[in-house]
This record gives sequence, C-alpha cells and structure tokens, in this order.
Amino acid sequence: MSNAGELGESRSGGCQCGAVRFRIEGPLGKASICHCRMCQKAFGAFYAPLVSVANGSVTWTRGAPAHYQSSNLVRRGFCAACGTPLTYEAPDGIALAIGAFDDPSDIRPEIQFGVEGRIAFVCELDELPERRTEDDLVAAAFLADIVSNQHPDHDTEIWGRPNDPPDEAATPFSADQLETRENDA
Ligand SMILES: [Zn+2]
Ligand SMILES: [Zn+2]
Repeated sequence: MSNAGELGESRSGGCQCGAVRFRIEGPLGKASICHCRMCQKAFGAFYAPLVSVANGSVTWTRGAPAHYQSSNLVRRGFCAACGTPLTYEAPDGIALAIGAFDDPSDIRPEIQFGVEGRIAFVCELDELPERRTEDDLVAAAFLADIVSNQHPDHDTEIWGRPNDPPDEAATPFSADQLETRENDA
C-alpha cells in the first residue's frame, strides 16, 4: 500500500453495511482529528478522524451519503442504512472519515483541531489495560456464533444484506450471491 498523499494512488472505502462506497483518486490532503463537540456528536465518539481530499477527487461508486446540515456552513454525510459517518463538507472542501477507508492504517493524523473541546481522558487512553478479542473467555460462545454483516474492506460486485428493506437494495440479491462475510463484528 502506498503512502497517503502519494501521486497516482487510488483508495476505496465505504460504510459498515456496504450501501455506500467511495473511491478517491489522487493524493489525500491533511489528516487530522477534531475534538470539537459537533464532531464528537457526529461520530458518536471522543473525536473525529478526518482526512481532506481535493475537490472532484471523490467518486461515490455505490449509493451516496445522506446528509445532515449541522450548521449553516457545514453538512455531514453518513450512510442512511447503517449510520456510518462518512464526510465533513464545508465551503472550502470535503473531508472523509478515516476509519471508513478500506485501509486506514497509513492515513496518520498530523494535527489535532478543536482541542478546547478535548475530553481530558483522551490523553490517557493508551494507558488502559489491553485484551485481545479471543482472550475474553466469557464471550467465547457469543463470538463463536457471530455472523458478521459488515461489508469487507474491498469493493464487491454484489453485496446485499438479508434483512434489507426492499427499497434499500439497488439490486436483488439471493443468499448464494452473497460474498463470504468476514467473521468479525
Ligand atoms: Zn451503510
Ligand atoms: Zn470538529
């Protein structure tokens, strides 16, 4: 995988359910996290990880985000089917949610915005005790029964979810058309 910002690269991503998929052509802009209260709410998280992209570089390859106008100047895109936050769209440009990329591992934030809103314990999170998922023996039975509905981290020709309302599926799917789902939740 090439580095973020390298010329000629193309990156894909999408929401958790796969109803909305995107592709970015060309270099990414600045990657950041924003601690402002609006970003906390929009992501349901302690902060929002976002990377700016050049105007015109985003192609919605499946579906399109719904939008919430969070202020007079900014709207935020999300998947209407599963709720994944996807965009921050301001008059001076668009940024995408880093976690929604198929491979976010090298989209490294280089600045923190809105630090007046930062939740104090965020600076201490890496001191928490650590567990691997498979180390949680109490949850072993639960984990063994999980069948993930999450879209895989790459584009797919056909993708559907068995419990979709009919109007949300662009194409009719049958169970045997579904790509093997990844065993994680
Ligand atoms: Zn979705
Ligand atoms: Zn913010």
